[in-house]
Amino acid sequence: MSTRDTEILHAGEGVPSSATPITTPIYSATTFTFPNAAELEKFQQGTSTHYIYSRYANPTVQAAEAKLAAAEGGEAALVTGSGMAATSTALFGLLQAGDEVLCASSIYGGTVQVLTQFLDRFGVATRFVSMEALGDVGPHFGPETKVLWFETPTNPTLRCVDIASVAAACRAKGVISIVDNTFASPINQQPLALDADLVMHSATKFLNGHSDVTAGALVGSRAIIDRVTPARKLLGGILEPASAYALARGIKTLAVRVARHNANAQAVAEFLEQQKQVSRVFYPGLASHPDAAIARKQMSGFGGMVCFECAGGYEGAVRTFDRLKLFQRAASLGGVESLCSLPVLTSQYGLDDIQLAAAGVTRGMLRLSVGLESSTDLIDDLRQALV
Ligand SMILES: *Cc1c(COP(=O)(O)O)cnc(C)c1O
Repeated sequence: MSTRDTEILHAGEGVPSSATPITTPIYSATTFTFPNAAELEKFQQGTSTHYIYSRYANPTVQAAEAKLAAAEGGEAALVTGSGMAATSTALFGLLQAGDEVLCASSIYGGTVQVLTQFLDRFGVATRFVSMEALGDVGPHFGPETKVLWFETPTNPTLRCVDIASVAAACRAKGVISIVDNTFASPINQQPLALDADLVMHSATKFLNGHSDVTAGALVGSRAIIDRVTPARKLLGGILEPASAYALARGIKTLAVRVARHNANAQAVAEFLEQQKQVSRVFYPGLASHPDAAIARKQMSGFGGMVCFECAGGYEGAVRTFDRLKLFQRAASLGGVESLCSLPVLTSQYGLDDIQLAAAGVTRGMLRLSVGLESSTDLIDDLRQALV
C-alpha cells in the first residue's frame, strides 16, 4: 500500500494507449522506463529501438528529424539546439588532429570562429578558398583535407556555388562536402541530390520560420549521420522537446511559406532594380545577378533574401533603414515578418575596407529578409523609405 503522497506523485503518468494524437506530442520526459532487465540489455546491444534518455534521442525530436530528412531527401537527420550546435557537432564528429578543413571564404561568421578559434586548438587547420577558386576546387585540396565547407547562396550578396561541381571534386578526392543550406531552404535547393555529403541548417531561420525557436540540423546518409551522432550525444547539443515540437510544426508549412517568400522577394528585387536611389540589387532570380545561371541550374526558387546598395552610400543606407515602417530593423532572417539589416553594422561589423572588399560588401548595402506580407505593402514601404 502506498501512502497518499506517493499516489499523487505517480497517478495519471505515462501515455494512454487509447489516445492517438494527430501530432507527435511534446515528450518532455528526460528519461524513459524499461519493463525489465532483458529489454534494457537489448537496448545496450543496439537491438531495441527503446528510448532511454532525452540527450541521446527523444520521440518529439525524432518527429522533427523525420520531417527534415524528408525535406532534404536524406536518409537521416539530427536536430540540435542551434545552427552553431549543428556546425560544431559535424566538425567535432568528423575531424581529428592533423586534418584540414577547406572552407569557402564567404561563410557565416560563427562558422569561421569555430574553425579558427576552437578547432585549431585541437590540431585541425583551416584554409580558406575564394568563391572563384571553388569554381575549380580540385587543385586546392591538400593531403590532409578531409572536409570542404561552403554555403550557397552566401550572405549578404547571394553569390551561388555550383554544388554538383564542388561535390564531384570532393567525391573524387574522398573529401566530405558540407553545405550550409540555411539561405535556400530545402524547398528551393537540395544539395544531397547534387551529391553533397552533409547538409547543415540554422533551423532558426526559414525551417522554423516564425522567429521564435533557436535550432539547427544536419541531414545526410545514414552512414554519415551515424558518424556525427556521438558528437551530438557527448557535446550535448540536442534540441529540447518543446522547441522540437515548434520546429516540426513550422516545417509543415515550409513549402507554402517559401513559395510566398520567393514570389515576394522577386517582386521586391525587380522593383528595387528600377529605382534611381538604388545602385545595385543582388538577387539570384534577377538576370543581372553574377550567378544567375548557377542559381537557375540548381535552385527551383531563389529565396526570400534580397540585398541592395544605396546610391547615397552609407548615409543613404542609414537614412533608408531608419525610414522603413513595415520592414523591421533586426538581424536574423527567414521569419514570416519582413526584416532589414545593415551588413556593416551586423554580419560584417568591424571589418576594414580590405576585408569588406574581399567579402564583396559595401557600406551602402542593406539586406532584406522578405516576409509573407503583401508584396504591394512591402514595395510601398521601400518606395517611401528610399531617399
Ligand atoms: C544564423 C546562421 C547560422 C547560425 O545558426 P544559429 O541558429 O544562429 O546558431 C549559420 N549559418 C547561416 C547561414 C546562418 O544564417
